[in-house]
Amino acid sequence: MFLCSFAANRRPATRSACPCGRSAAVISLSRIAQSRYNAQPIVSERSASSDALESLAIGVDIGGTGIKGAIVNSRGDLLETLHQPSPRTTSALRDFVHSLVKRAEAPVRGIGVGCKGIIDAGSTRVKSSPGDLNFLEGQLLSEAIGAGDLPVCAENDARVALIGEVLWGAARGRRNVVMLTLGTGVGGAVLVDGVILHGVNGAAGHLGHTTIDPRGGLCICGNYGCLETHFSSRAIESDYWAHIHRAAPAKLSITSTGELPSSEAIFRVAAAGDECARYVVDRALEYLGAALVSFLHTFDPEIFILGGNIVAAGPQLIVPIQDRVARRTKTLLGREVPIVFQQIVGLGGVAGAAGLVFLKQNLLAI
Ligand SMILES: [Zn+2]
Repeated sequence: MFLCSFAANRRPATRSACPCGRSAAVISLSRIAQSRYNAQPIVSERSASSDALESLAIGVDIGGTGIKGAIVNSRGDLLETLHQPSPRTTSALRDFVHSLVKRAEAPVRGIGVGCKGIIDAGSTRVKSSPGDLNFLEGQLLSEAIGAGDLPVCAENDARVALIGEVLWGAARGRRNVVMLTLGTGVGGAVLVDGVILHGVNGAAGHLGHTTIDPRGGLCICGNYGCLETHFSSRAIESDYWAHIHRAAPAKLSITSTGELPSSEAIFRVAAAGDECARYVVDRALEYLGAALVSFLHTFDPEIFILGGNIVAAGPQLIVPIQDRVARRTKTLLGREVPIVFQQIVGLGGVAGAAGLVFLKQNLLAI
């Protein structure tokens, strides 16, 4: 879910309403409520003067289909947000970021960027980003954005999502955390003793490319049988499509325009008793559970966070995972590690990207 907001309460005269028709508001991450299984964001109104003198940063999350950005304060409040289709050129990316900078009513301390792929956090260079964002490969994000004197920080998108959770979300105050982002692909990030794992070349923590089945299919990364090939929206959708193709009894069908049933619809009909969907979902969950057991045994975290679009499946996803993983890890770990959903729904990457700026300038610490 994405929260649409122009958060215009700081400029009521010029932007009193969001183009989508929703009321303007500040999104206060500190007031996000969390139940055991899922999180519901609360949009709260605050006075225009309450944050006039605080530190601000721009957070940007560049994804394969959409780009999100926000002006964020050091309490993690999203003061103004913007969401557009993903840029396909450097100038489109620059225009998006500059439009956010112009909206800030107080000086911003810097720009934090989360981007899928392998990002060199030291230089902001995009080392590798296969797919729709490959126009960024080889570029320094600081130069691509061209923000003058404003410092630019950059990280992999899953890592900024994890940073957002550690600063203001489900893992607040924790120093040993593992996170998976479950969407079209599977991202991962690992915090060990307060330090994000990078590895020699910046590729550490790409947990979606852990081999789950040595005989599995070819993955986008060149390996075979990665977690991403078994548990991701594309994996679930293609598995269900294979059943349709074999004329197995299935409730969902391919649309007249050739679109496959979505993973969201597949989870829904699985709960309603569609045998194909139930088989596909159960098998995907079996792989995800096996992967989590391995990650818990490897990293021994305080808490494990599941994020990304697929967590909209709610209890249907997390309950069987919690039960399965607890049974298989209790002996070695001697305790039950909490497995929870991402708390900053839809905007975790944006918040965490801004958090990068605050961390780098020692305004916040993990
Ligand atoms: Zn892979």
